[in-house]
Amino acid sequence: MSNPLFDGLFGRHAENDAPFLITSSAQTLSYRAFVARSARFAHALKGLGVTPGDRVAAQIEKSPDALVLYAACARLGAVFLPLNTAYTAAEVAYFVEDSGARVFVCDPAKVEALQPVADQAGAQLATLGAGGDGTLADLAEAASETFETVPRRGEDLAAFLYTSGTTGRSKGAMLTQDNLLSNAKTLAEAWRFTAEDVLLHALPIFHTHGLFVATNVVLLTGGAMLFLPKFDLEDVLTGLPQATTMMGVPTFYTRLLDDDRFTGDRVAHMRLFTSGSAPMLADTHRAFTARTGHRILERYGMTETNMTTSNPYEGDRRPGTVGLPLPGVEVRILADGAEVSPGETGMIEVRGPNVFQGYWNMPEKTAEELRPDGWFITGDLGTWSDDGYVTIVGRAKDLIISGGFNIYPKELEQVLDAQPGVLESAVIGVPHPDFGETPLAVLVPEAGATLDRQAIAEAVGTALARFKHPSRYEVIDALPRNTMGKVQKAVLRDLYGAAKT
Ligand code: ATP
Ligand code: MG
Repeated sequence: MSNPLFDGLFGRHAENDAPFLITSSAQTLSYRAFVARSARFAHALKGLGVTPGDRVAAQIEKSPDALVLYAACARLGAVFLPLNTAYTAAEVAYFVEDSGARVFVCDPAKVEALQPVADQAGAQLATLGAGGDGTLADLAEAASETFETVPRRGEDLAAFLYTSGTTGRSKGAMLTQDNLLSNAKTLAEAWRFTAEDVLLHALPIFHTHGLFVATNVVLLTGGAMLFLPKFDLEDVLTGLPQATTMMGVPTFYTRLLDDDRFTGDRVAHMRLFTSGSAPMLADTHRAFTARTGHRILERYGMTETNMTTSNPYEGDRRPGTVGLPLPGVEVRILADGAEVSPGETGMIEVRGPNVFQGYWNMPEKTAEELRPDGWFITGDLGTWSDDGYVTIVGRAKDLIISGGFNIYPKELEQVLDAQPGVLESAVIGVPHPDFGETPLAVLVPEAGATLDRQAIAEAVGTALARFKHPSRYEVIDALPRNTMGKVQKAVLRDLYGAAKT
């Protein structure tokens, strides 16, 4: 009997002495030690009453042991449910309760605040610190280094991963072993990962990008990860010379480009930089190439689908696009029920072995977004190029409908970003008595710049049709972003929406 996810990612390395994790304090954990530790953790979880199919929720700092916990869940056939470390106790309470978690693992420093959360949800509380400490680690210490892996099938659930909550309340995406494994295989091949790779890992591991895209690909291919607690510019600059690849969100790249120490020499030896989770400006892509000679490989995916499109490893990595459908993944773009022609905008839908099973406890939402024939309606609007590249136009929820006309915020943002003194911008729809909605532009000035709103409004007037012109311009120091670098338009709508006349 087998356990495809555990065997495919972890079990295969039981005898492998190569390094898996290298931490910022230069400590190395070999694959062999990692897998042995996962046995101990599986015993500890079992001792707490976890049985196959049970959920194990975790709000813990990024550390090697946090990944050991993931491996232990796979080994035990439990469903791993990592939670954003920024969530407050009140927010965590919803997830722990909603998921019906058997065990909730938290940081040792948060026991006081989170014990009531576990009690309320009927979950056992255990702790795990970033330094190998905590009650779970203690239980593991006393346990055996061998554990009989629980048999699972590919269609069994492996993880509940909650979406980022950019457009509303986070939803728990139910992901099977096959969902994860199929995508890891596809990406490893598409991006040419091998045991020789050292991936600089500065992403959080409660999100699909850092957990499944980065970690699963490395586990599958046997390379090492330079495992940094977070994106710290100094640490990343120091780590790059040891790495062969880096996966990042666009803000990683803009922050690197803002520093003169980030030079072409520093990364001349690297083989691959990828970007995703939020749109990368074509300008950033080009500036990166100008500075380093490397072309960032941008890809697109989401919690529910894993990765769906990617620019090619060999071939044209086109700025501003998210590339071509990945092998084995079907992508279509529909408007009014029909496939669009190149250049036309429609809703992106995805189907394939990567697509999730539905939202936990949300049958209505699942029925709205996941068609019976397997197509998932992503909520993202996009277009095809003539030669099959996808460009993300924006989210359907951010589309502004003014007097019956569609206004795509991105079109306006591109014009605004090009104006003198504008660092970046965000356009949102705010209520309007006649038109239903009108666009409002939020502008972030470059350091030290004073924006000339009049001149900006005139430039927009020349570039775009009248119905698209923002009714208001607001200036803000920085756009609200979450940990993945996603602009939180809902926050902007709360901030400016009500004041609209
Ligand atoms: P929620 O679904 O809770 O509102 P979310 O959609 O932000 O949150 P995630 O699953 O983390 O949660 O993010 C997926 C979304 O991120 C995609 O639907 C898409 O809008 C965006 N995204 C991912 N990669 C890219 C990219 N390369 N370019 C543009 N957008 C991207
Ligand atoms: Mg989403």
